[in-house]
Amino acid sequence: MVDMPENAHSIVKVVVPRRVWDTYDYSVPHGMPNPMVGARVRVPLGHGRAVGVVVEITERSDFELRDIERVIDEQPLLSEEVVDLGMWMSEYYHHPLGSVFETILPSAAIRGRPARTEPEKQWTLIRQANTPTIRANAKHQHHAWQTIQEREVVRESDLKSLDVTRTSLEALEHKGMVKQSTVATSQIITPSPISPTDEQRTAIESIKADLQTFQTFLLDGITGSGKTEVYLQVIEEVIRKGQQALVLVPEIALTPQMTNRFHERFSRMAVMHSMISNAKRFDTWSRAAIGEIPIIVGTRSAVFTPFKNLGIIVVDEEHDPSYKQNESLRYSARDIAVMRARNLGIPCVLGSATPSMESVMNARSKRYRYLQLSHRPGSAELPSFHIQDMRRTHVQGGICEPLLKRIGEHLDRDGQVLILINRRGHSTYYLCQECGWTAMCSDCDVRLTWHEVPTKRLHCHSCGRNYQPVAKCPDCDKKSIVTLGVGTQQVEETLAATFPDVPRHRIDRDSVRTNRQLTATFSRLQHAKEGLLIGTQMLAKGHHFPNVTMVAVIAADNGFLSTDFRGPERTAQLIVQVAGRAGREEKRGEVWIQSYDPDNQDLQSLVKEGYEGFTATELRLREEANFPPFGHMAVIRSEGPEERVAEEFCAEVLNTLRQCDVRVLGPAYAPITRVARQFRFQGIVLAKGRRQLHAALKTVERMRPKSRKTRWSIDVDPSEMA
Ligand code: ADP
Ligand code: ZN
Ligand code: ZN
Repeated sequence: MVDMPENAHSIVKVVVPRRVWDTYDYSVPHGMPNPMVGARVRVPLGHGRAVGVVVEITERSDFELRDIERVIDEQPLLSEEVVDLGMWMSEYYHHPLGSVFETILPSAAIRGRPARTEPEKQWTLIRQANTPTIRANAKHQHHAWQTIQEREVVRESDLKSLDVTRTSLEALEHKGMVKQSTVATSQIITPSPISPTDEQRTAIESIKADLQTFQTFLLDGITGSGKTEVYLQVIEEVIRKGQQALVLVPEIALTPQMTNRFHERFSRMAVMHSMISNAKRFDTWSRAAIGEIPIIVGTRSAVFTPFKNLGIIVVDEEHDPSYKQNESLRYSARDIAVMRARNLGIPCVLGSATPSMESVMNARSKRYRYLQLSHRPGSAELPSFHIQDMRRTHVQGGICEPLLKRIGEHLDRDGQVLILINRRGHSTYYLCQECGWTAMCSDCDVRLTWHEVPTKRLHCHSCGRNYQPVAKCPDCDKKSIVTLGVGTQQVEETLAATFPDVPRHRIDRDSVRTNRQLTATFSRLQHAKEGLLIGTQMLAKGHHFPNVTMVAVIAADNGFLSTDFRGPERTAQLIVQVAGRAGREEKRGEVWIQSYDPDNQDLQSLVKEGYEGFTATELRLREEANFPPFGHMAVIRSEGPEERVAEEFCAEVLNTLRQCDVRVLGPAYAPITRVARQFRFQGIVLAKGRRQLHAALKTVERMRPKSRKTRWSIDVDPSEMA
């Protein structure tokens, strides 16, 4: 035991962003000021060094201590709130504390890059009748004066490129020719030009009335009902109060649209997503931490941004699965947003046209305040829903005859028809008619998908490997290879044969590879008045197709009959989202879902009563099965190159869990048994309450496989079972 009475605060607990479970204790050497909680320090670690974050200052330690080498941040980089969030995440997700901080911190921060500690300065021109004179030989001042007259405002970060010195500006300031301010205070708000509908007004007023307390709102508003307008008007109030706002969006592809809307209203804001460079991301981060950036619009990981004075968090499309990270630290940015709002005592607004079952339940139990936008401003109506029974019909390239006929009718009436098929490629089976051989990936337990264009090859959608087609069956040597199962390419082929003169556009990850291509394709399609749009869920991402009068859903059965308990929810959300993109005032659209299982309860309620009806049915089915949001769930996964070893370890973890107050299923093969030569197993843990779930997981979190090649993970609140 080491006591340090002469300097009461000389021991610090430090989290090092590596795969470690515990903090490390270090002493602060004499003469070095104590670092603050949330500050980064450079510390010796093993034979090397690391950058860590101080999470606690204490007086005692049970260890032989080494000194910290240097304090990197005089002012804490992370607020105590974010430090506490990290500690909480480690417990909640049963993930090593160090790895949690590795996820939270931008990599530039982990490398020890200095952070911005005070808001950037700027100098603004002061217009006056009699300009004071500058001495003839004061060259720098003349140049500075000229520059500022041209530009009106010069920011500190521009000084170098403009070749202007700070001293010359200070001299001008002394003469009253320029004034200094900080960039932070220069927010210009353009008031909303839109007068809200009654429903919008109710939503805006309800949220505004509760700005200083924690409350989660579920803003349930159909596509185009003006949810974004609600966010904007509420945030305007938050900014006027001098606070900051965080807006989460699910995908990078959506950030430009969202960003533009915000830019029209607010002169200062920043975006944050994975395509932004590390240096820039860290800069934005530290500017938010000192209060210089009032608004951040960002994807998943932006939820960890530290703020000086955060006033609200908005999560748009809260149901979107991309808020869940499905590797390493398996966190849900939506759930963390709610947690942060709670810790900060501020509102959190979750918006969606198709809220998740979790959020619907929370609204039912009054834990979330429910706000509804049930119609679009103007007279636009949502499309009507219908089922196309496929039984005993003739099916051609995945589309049944009656549906093809209907598509033809809409095309004849100059409507655009959107075909939703959630599989890319041409055929999902490539098999021998004689002996039943199917083409499989040699590294994964996955059937290969035949891609007619552009490769004429077989692709593995799991690991990306591709293969030459075969002329003969490798098993029976007969020339009897056929393709079955339908992808986007085959649907396109069928439609091309049936409607040869109609223009077609296929949108999937093979035809549109980058976000730039996606944006370009969508803006082209916006102007296309007729024709067929064939695509995967990419079509659901935030674009409107005003001329679409019919949406045909080709393979909904895959989703409604999925083995993944979230399959029906995802499918219903996708259909409703895509349907929401279709049609406009004068043209009410129709959605046709073809199915071999037309009596399916989920499908029936979706079609008859819309998403709300679907929700009621699906929640009832979930309750019967004790699945989330009724029970609490975690998935244990293990994988490794040796089948037996991976399976045994999974069993070991599950057997330990069986000693606890939870229900355990498995081990079983994962839905895809082998990916990239790794065998995969999983088990399901179900608990009545969160407490029981966490108590059980706590007993296994630090277990280690005997073989280093076996990897495993705990997934709390899983978003997919694959
Ligand atoms: P959502 O976010 O729910 O999809 P948006 O906020 O994007 O909806 O609104 C859809 C469109 O309707 C936008 O062009 C928006 O400017 C417009 N809009 C929103 N609210 C109103 C309103 N009260 N009056 C007129 N137009 C509105
Ligand atoms: Zn064969
Ligand atoms: Zn593969």
